[in-house]
Amino acid sequence: MPTPTQLRVDLEAIHANLALARDRANGRSVLAAVKANAYGHGLVPVARSIQERGSADWLGVALTSEAEELRAAGITLPILKFTPTLADDLDDAITAELTLSVGDAGAIRAAQLAAAARGRIVEVHLKIDTGMRRVGAEPGDAALLGAQLADSPNLRVGGIFTHLPVSDVPEGGEFTRAQFRLFDDVVADVERVVGTVPLVHCANSGAVLGHDLGRSTMVRPGIMIYGSYPDPHTPRDHPLSDVARWTSRITFVKRVQAGQTVGYGRTWTAPVDTWVATVAVGYGDGYSRLLSSRGRMLVDGHSYPVIGRVCMDQTMIDLGPDLPTVGVGDEVVLLGTSGKERIGVEEIAELMGTITYEVTCLITDRVPRVY
Ligand SMILES: *Cc1c(COP(=O)(O)O)cnc(C)c1O
Repeated sequence: MPTPTQLRVDLEAIHANLALARDRANGRSVLAAVKANAYGHGLVPVARSIQERGSADWLGVALTSEAEELRAAGITLPILKFTPTLADDLDDAITAELTLSVGDAGAIRAAQLAAAARGRIVEVHLKIDTGMRRVGAEPGDAALLGAQLADSPNLRVGGIFTHLPVSDVPEGGEFTRAQFRLFDDVVADVERVVGTVPLVHCANSGAVLGHDLGRSTMVRPGIMIYGSYPDPHTPRDHPLSDVARWTSRITFVKRVQAGQTVGYGRTWTAPVDTWVATVAVGYGDGYSRLLSSRGRMLVDGHSYPVIGRVCMDQTMIDLGPDLPTVGVGDEVVLLGTSGKERIGVEEIAELMGTITYEVTCLITDRVPRVY
């Protein structure tokens, strides 16, 4: 039996969004970020479709386990691991044919040792910190690390990259442009030591959508390929296609009298006699409890407010005082369109006080993804 709650993922929309990124990249390579289960959309099906269609040239992950899953599924595209790799994880990362990020002398030494022990040549990308202050080498240390890489016979410098914390907002323009300039200088320093580095990259979705990509040779979009802008204030010059449609179903409908309360904590009281529907979704599915008495759901082209607390497996909506035209078994849209109504990821993110990224990442494993 199909579960009542499903996440429908439009792979064509992902390809359309990647085509937009490729257009913006203007001849540069495109890396699709598929970390965190492809931002909740399903790691393997998304990656497989990207590989089959050739809509990206690289994939990006955060964890070795993510790359292992991709390799086990027959993904042969090159995969960059964005994050530092701990020494006891290196052997698995090399087995998964990951391209490693390195940002300090210890990481380079450990990678060289692990690669040599396996008799392998491992490709690494040198990570430079130009302002994110998360991971990566200080710009002033880059040339020295380049020299260390040049002296590491089992490592090959395939790329150099940095990351941009405010590329997605207009106020971040100046900071981001300064990062691009600093990064250009660092790339020149490193190339003087190791020769031309094939992949030079910095652009996340914010930069792909809103910045001149300079001398980079690859872009790294994530959120935009899943149809969302990174920030409510990101310029909307480039229209993205909706990817996710999240639905559940009504399991129960009842009359609630004025003055009666609905749900845990009795936080919502019916102001008038009304009809209440129960929907088969809750925070156990990733429909956040922060949406209690704040979210809304769509049924048959109409919008109904979430009332009371979102439970683990069930949520109540107010259908209003009139005899309802919707009933048990009907589809409920949590994310997506119904008739003329639409609930976007942005709307849910705003109600939760978070960003679009987190909304789909939070959708749990028990919600089947349908493609
Ligand atoms: C996640 C990630 C990206 C993609 O960022 P978006 O904002 O989703 O486009 C790019 N680069 C790195 C290093 C990342 O961790």
